[in-house]
Amino acid sequence: MRKNETTAEGAGQLHSTILVIGGGAAGMVAAIAARRSAKGPSQPCSITLLERNARPGAKIRISGGGKCNVTHRGTPAELLEEGFLRRNEARFLRHALYSFSNSDLLELLRLRGVEIEERADGKVFPVSGDAATVVRAFEELLRESRVEAHYSCRVRSVERKGELFVVTTAEDVFTADHLILATGGVSYSKTGTTGDGLAIARSFGHTITKPSAALAPLFTIKPPPASLSGLALRGVSLVATAGGKSAERRGDLLFTHRGFSGPAALSLSRDVAELMGVARNCALFADLFAQHSSAELEAELLKQARKSGTQMVRKFLQSCPITPPNGSFGAAPHGTIPTALVTFIMRHAGLENDLTWSGLAREKRQSLLLALKRFPLGSVRDVPLDQGEISAGGVSLSEVNPKTLCSRVVPNLFFCGEILDYAGEIGGFNLQAAFSTGWVAGVNAAKSG
Ligand SMILES: Cc1cc2nc3c(=O)[nH]c(=O)nc-3n(C[C@H](O)[C@H](O)[C@H](O)COP(=O)(O)OP(=O)(O)OC[C@H]3O[C@@H](n4cnc5c(N)ncnc54)[C@H](O)[C@@H]3O)c2cc1C
Repeated sequence: MRKNETTAEGAGQLHSTILVIGGGAAGMVAAIAARRSAKGPSQPCSITLLERNARPGAKIRISGGGKCNVTHRGTPAELLEEGFLRRNEARFLRHALYSFSNSDLLELLRLRGVEIEERADGKVFPVSGDAATVVRAFEELLRESRVEAHYSCRVRSVERKGELFVVTTAEDVFTADHLILATGGVSYSKTGTTGDGLAIARSFGHTITKPSAALAPLFTIKPPPASLSGLALRGVSLVATAGGKSAERRGDLLFTHRGFSGPAALSLSRDVAELMGVARNCALFADLFAQHSSAELEAELLKQARKSGTQMVRKFLQSCPITPPNGSFGAAPHGTIPTALVTFIMRHAGLENDLTWSGLAREKRQSLLLALKRFPLGSVRDVPLDQGEISAGGVSLSEVNPKTLCSRVVPNLFFCGEILDYAGEIGGFNLQAAFSTGWVAGVNAAKSG
């Protein structure tokens, strides 16, 4: 970095070829990639990173419950398919995920001594079980890459003066030829993500898709009964309906004291937040037998009634696996319907607690079927934006070139990570997207001369 004391601003002005704002997953990788792509000594490239926190990687540190689900198993095509359900977002990320894949990321970490393990569900974690090992690896890479990192340094504003970006913090004025905005989304604002980068992008004329909740818990108007709090349903289908529209997600569902969490609720939360924007009343239902149509489930119930007419329906439900794969009803390695919930199912279906199969006449059977296929979970009160693992919305993808991550509005301005208008599923997809887009932004900022 050159220090030029004689600037019009009066304060010391620090100039770099590339300046990165934000020291999260995307910003750190962008700075490292920029160094690796910079031309030789004939064209010196100075790289500066400004991070408002005292240390980088605040979200990496808390990711995966502090264990850091750093990426997901699979080819880039598989990651795009499984991790990014909206086709336009997957299309946008395609080039980045192929340019810097999960294998590239893991190789980078392994070379810094971070051993990695893959879990049966495809999630990838450091063997240490400690997210700090991942952050330390990136801190070392930043040092090795001669990146001038300034911590506890919050950017207040950015202006364009001629060909230069002029970046103002509380204490300094920085200038740069190329600017990479990597300030993240807006959830978990206590980690530093308060949307500063979005305001900067907007001031440059970029369209910002309004941030909304994603991978967030669902709070209901009437919280679930206290006796159900903490209870988990395995592999159910969670359905949200509002204003004649609906959305659905299959997965595990957790009852909480304020509503619902767990993979199915988190994954559905972005759709729920959108549905609530259309119609305030968004109702939630659980389909406990998502792999069976109502007719198939009814056939199973009739079979059970013929087999053991004296058995109490309640007893059967207590031992009945949730969502058994078709054809293996009663013998799947899934969780059962928790006893506490069975009482609510029976009550909701209007059935007596001691009802036996022989007493389950057609009308009662229909009520039970409905309760099992469409068990009401209440109406959503809120999908708290700040409590989401990520936020949806951000810099409009149509204004950013996916091959370079350079702005189509302002030359030499680049974006990477969660500031962009995409949102991935849980499973390591969001960190991978941040690393991959960071890489592409860094490489192209360095290449663009
Ligand atoms: C609780 C939690 C758990 C998660 N778990 C996982 C997981 O296991 N796997 C996974 O893939 N994803 C997970 N995520 C999501 C993942 O952490 C993020 O998607 C990812 O970190 C985004 O990276 P980023 O670099 O774009 O943004 P961030 O990591 O948010 O980094 C942005 C940085 O910019 C800085 N900044 C902002 N404004 C300024 C400014 N004005 N000046 C200077 N610096 C600024 C911020 O301080 C921040 O450090 C989790 C998120 C949370 C909140």
